Amino acid sequence: MSDKLSMDQVLRAPMRVGRVVPLLVLSAFGAIAFTCAVATVGYANNQHMADARVWLEHSHSVLTLLQNQGQRLDRVSASMQLYRATGDDRHLSNAQSTTAAMRVGVDNLETLVRDNPSQTQHAKDLDVKIDGLAHALDAAKTSREIPDRELRESRSAITVIQDEEHGLLTQRADDTQKATTRSLVLGIFFLGSSLVVIVVLFAFLIRDALRRRAFETQISIANDRLEGTVEKLKRHGADSVFLKSSRDELQLCVTSLEAQKCTGRHLHELVPGSRGATVILNNSRTLMEIMTTWGEPNSLSDGFALETCCGLRTGRSRWRKPGESEIHCSHFAGVPPENYLCIPLAAQGETIGFTYLEFPTEEIAQLACDRLVLIEEMVELASMTIAALNLRAKLESQSIRDVLTGLFNRRFMEVALERELHRATRRGSSLAVLLLDVDHFKDFNDTFGHEAGDVVLREVGACFLQSVRTEDIVCRYGGEEFVIIFPEITAEMALQRAEKIREQISALRIQFKGQPLGHISLSIGLAMFPYPASSVDELLRMADHALYDAKQSGRNRTVVASHAPALFLKKEH
Ligand code: GH3
Ligand code: MG
Ligand code: MG
Repeated sequence: MSDKLSMDQVLRAPMRVGRVVPLLVLSAFGAIAFTCAVATVGYANNQHMADARVWLEHSHSVLTLLQNQGQRLDRVSASMQLYRATGDDRHLSNAQSTTAAMRVGVDNLETLVRDNPSQTQHAKDLDVKIDGLAHALDAAKTSREIPDRELRESRSAITVIQDEEHGLLTQRADDTQKATTRSLVLGIFFLGSSLVVIVVLFAFLIRDALRRRAFETQISIANDRLEGTVEKLKRHGADSVFLKSSRDELQLCVTSLEAQKCTGRHLHELVPGSRGATVILNNSRTLMEIMTTWGEPNSLSDGFALETCCGLRTGRSRWRKPGESEIHCSHFAGVPPENYLCIPLAAQGETIGFTYLEFPTEEIAQLACDRLVLIEEMVELASMTIAALNLRAKLESQSIRDVLTGLFNRRFMEVALERELHRATRRGSSLAVLLLDVDHFKDFNDTFGHEAGDVVLREVGACFLQSVRTEDIVCRYGGEEFVIIFPEITAEMALQRAEKIREQISALRIQFKGQPLGHISLSIGLAMFPYPASSVDELLRMADHALYDAKQSGRNRTVVASHAPALFLKKEH
């Protein structure tokens, strides 16, 4: 029997059982009716047989009686012959007494054949004949004649009765034989029918038992399936809750690193005892770097090339475990573990890095294998979140940073300067703004090309970043002009720092395509808040004028704006 029975078959089974019950009831009634009919016919037949037997015995009695009568006649004839020969009266009286016995016998015969009119008539005839014989015997006393005629007539009357009774006997014997045969046939028929009914009933019972067993098997299979489905639903429910909570937590993350840490925590929760790391492709897309780890994966190397990971090469989850895949990735510093899993982190077709999971024991590896779908969903979720956060960071950076140098842009500088001015006012501290311009920058472009000019701008920006404090703000103001904001600084310190920056730039030696780009110098205009400048506009304008002064007075120098803005303006115009 097939184990793969549909639920539909299981549901239809009771309908078939429902049809069998009326059939069984009908069969039971049929069997009772049949048994009653056979019993009635059998009873009637037996009765008939018993009657036939009685009639047979009756005929035998009649024939025996007639035989006795015949013998008596013989005795009368013999006695009369002796009387005639001897004249002894005893022989006559013997014949007379035998004849008297014959009359009694005829009376008995009449009683026996009372139900049969024909035989009754014959018996009466016999009675008459015997009467005649008796009279003839009385007459023989004197004549000593043998009454041959009476004897013949009497014998003939007995023969008539005997012949008819023989006929009746044959007929009754035939009846009895027929009744016996009928009884035998009926018995065989009843036995056969009973056997057929019993076989049919047993066949029904066996079929029923087999069906019940089949239904039980089907129900058991259906129950197992149902249990399996319930178990699966429960697991899916738990998985959905897990994924929802992971998604909720990932949505709270504001940086890629935070999202990676969150992913690690959840993966560790999903496969307790596992170790792992998130490995991210660096900005130049040349090196894979470990960003977060959990459970201390000890043999992973610090930085490695993208193609060292088999998972990244295939672009999908890749197990390394004995019996499945024996090839190791090459991103290990020491001996690689036996069981590990690399799942690429990718979103919108772009590889971000990969999630590495290693399993210290076979049991933990098996658990991970069982939860692989959930792990992959979790990593996919993490990929999308990390990609979204990276994109956000990139967009944020693009909106506040200059693309060429990576320094803050002019828009950001204006906002930052406003904020720093408020902060300085609140704290009662002073603030310096430096406006820096590369001297004769156009010559770099003209001599070495625009690309070389870009290199100079980038190097100058990097040099600025190295020369300032963390709280200082370095921006590209436009072209080859830069602004540096020094919060909480005195004019003397600011001048000192400006000079130091100028010196460091002067010391820069830049090469472009193996060619030295020559000496670089800066002109710097320095303005202080709250005096002499008292607003953002004044600060920038005064710094600009100071820079102008620096250019005018020979370049490669710093000029501190020390006059009132109106004075500068007057001087300019
Ligand atoms: P000065 O000493 O008077 O400042 O002379 P300068 O040549 O530095 O000043 P000028 O204003 O005459 O020329 C500035 C040049 O900077 C003009 C422009 O082509 C170039 N420049 C502006 N932005 C960029 C840039 O992003 N890249 C490159 N390569 N050149 C730029
Ligand atoms: Mg300029
Ligand atoms: Mg210039």
